[in-house]
Amino acid sequence: MHQNKLFNQTRGRLAGWYAGVMGVILSLSGLVTYQMVAYSHWHAVEQELESVSGTLHDNLESKLRQPGKLEPSVEAALPGLCAANQSCISQSDNAGRHILGIVQQNGYYLRFLEQSGQAIALLGQYPNEASADIQEGWQTVKGSDGTRYQQISLLLKTADGTSWGYMQVGRSLKEYDDHLTTLRWLFLIGLPAGIVLVGGTGWWLAGMSMRPIYQSYERMQQFTADAAHELRTPVAAIRATVEAAQDIHPLSEAEVQDTLAVVARQNKRLAQLVQDLLLLSRMDQQTHPIKHSACCLNDLVVDLVEELFVLEIAKAIKLTHQIRVNEPLFVMGDEAQLSRLISNLITNALQYTPDGGKVTVILERDDHHALIHVQDTGIGIAPANQTRIFDRFYRVNSDRSRHTGGSGLGLAIARAIARSHQGDLKVQSRVNEGSTFIVRLPLKD
Ligand code: ADP
Repeated sequence: MHQNKLFNQTRGRLAGWYAGVMGVILSLSGLVTYQMVAYSHWHAVEQELESVSGTLHDNLESKLRQPGKLEPSVEAALPGLCAANQSCISQSDNAGRHILGIVQQNGYYLRFLEQSGQAIALLGQYPNEASADIQEGWQTVKGSDGTRYQQISLLLKTADGTSWGYMQVGRSLKEYDDHLTTLRWLFLIGLPAGIVLVGGTGWWLAGMSMRPIYQSYERMQQFTADAAHELRTPVAAIRATVEAAQDIHPLSEAEVQDTLAVVARQNKRLAQLVQDLLLLSRMDQQTHPIKHSACCLNDLVVDLVEELFVLEIAKAIKLTHQIRVNEPLFVMGDEAQLSRLISNLITNALQYTPDGGKVTVILERDDHHALIHVQDTGIGIAPANQTRIFDRFYRVNSDRSRHTGGSGLGLAIARAIARSHQGDLKVQSRVNEGSTFIVRLPLKD
C-alpha cells in the first residue's frame, strides 16, 4: 500500500482531515477550559476581597467618629496600620495574630483615604503610589513592577452617617496571572503536540481501515490482469491461425476445414470465458436474480451422473451415485445454476482422476441441510493449494488445466453459486489419494 500513490495520498488526506477536525475540537475545548478556569479564579479573588472588605466595613464603621480621622480603637483593631505621614517598617510579625490577618499577608493591602483621595493610613504594601483618583467599587491597578492588583474601594461613614472617607482592600493578581500564563503555555505546547499525535494516529488508523479496501483493489487488479491474459490466449490463437491461412495460396478444402475448426474451438473457449466472467461479475453485484423454484436434488444428481456417463466411458472411470436419503430433498433456487455447480465438480473430478479411478456423487441429509459429496480417487490437492483453488483463475498446474480446457474459473463459479443459495462449498483432499468436494445447501422449509 505504501508504494501506491493514490492510496498514500488518500491516507494522508484522511489523516490531515482527522488532525484538522480534532485540532479545531481541541482548540475550542481548550479555549472553553481556559475561560472557565480564568473565570472561577477571578470569581474566587473577588469573593475573598468582597468578604474581607465587607467584614472590615461593618466592624469599623461603628468605631468612626470624625471624617478623615482614625480613632485609636480602629488602630488597635488593625495592628500594623501605618499613618500616611509616618514611615513604617514591615508588619510581618503581626501576621496571623488578628482575625483579619489575611490583609497582613504578602500581596494584600488595606488603605484608608480621605474623600479627596489623600491617603490616611496603610496596612500592607500598596503597589501604586501615583494613583490618586478614587472611585467606589472594583478597580484593577498595575504596580511599578508590572504586577496587577485587584482592589475594592468602599465609602465609610461615621456613626452619625456623614461620609468619613474611603477604605480600599486589594490583593495581588500575581498568583492568578502566573496560573493563567502556565495554562496558556500548556495549551500552546500541548495543542500542536496533540495535533501531531492525532495526525500520526489518524495516519495509522487510515492505514488500518484502508487495508481491506487496498486488498480488494489489488484483487481487482489481479483479476483484470488474469482475465486479460486468459482472453488474449484464444484471441492470439485465432489471429495466428487466420494469418497462417492467409499466407497459403490457394487453400485446400482440408486446410480450410482445419482453419475453421481451430477458429471455432478458440471462439467457443472465448465465448465460454466471457460468459463465465459475466456470471461471476453479476453474482458479485447480485444483479443476477436467482430464479427461486423448488429443485429436487435427487433428480438433479441422478440426471447429471447419467449425462456425464459418456465422459466416464471415454476415460474408463467408474462414475456412480449414492442417494442416501429415502425422501426427495428440495432446495429453493435456480435449477440451471445448481446443475452448473454440481456438474463443475463432477467434470473436475473426472478430469483430475486417472483412468481406472472412481468418482462417486453422494446425496445425504444433515438436519436442515442437504449435502452433496463429489468424491474421487484422483491426483488430490496439496494442503497449500486447497484454499487457493477457489480463487478466480487459480490453477494448481496450469499446463495440465489448460490442456483439459480449464480456465481456473470452475470452482470460483461453483462456490459463488453455493453461496448465492445460502450454502457453501468445501474441499477435503489428500495428494495421490483423491479429493472430496462437499456442497452444503439449506433445504426448503
Ligand atoms: P479449472 O478450470 O482449471 O479446472 P477450477 O476452478 O475448476 O479450474 O479448478 C481449479 C484448480 O483446482 C484446477 O486447476 C485443479 O488443479 C484443482 N482441482 C479442481 N478439482 C480437482 C479435483 N477433483 N482433483 C484435483 N484437483 C482439482
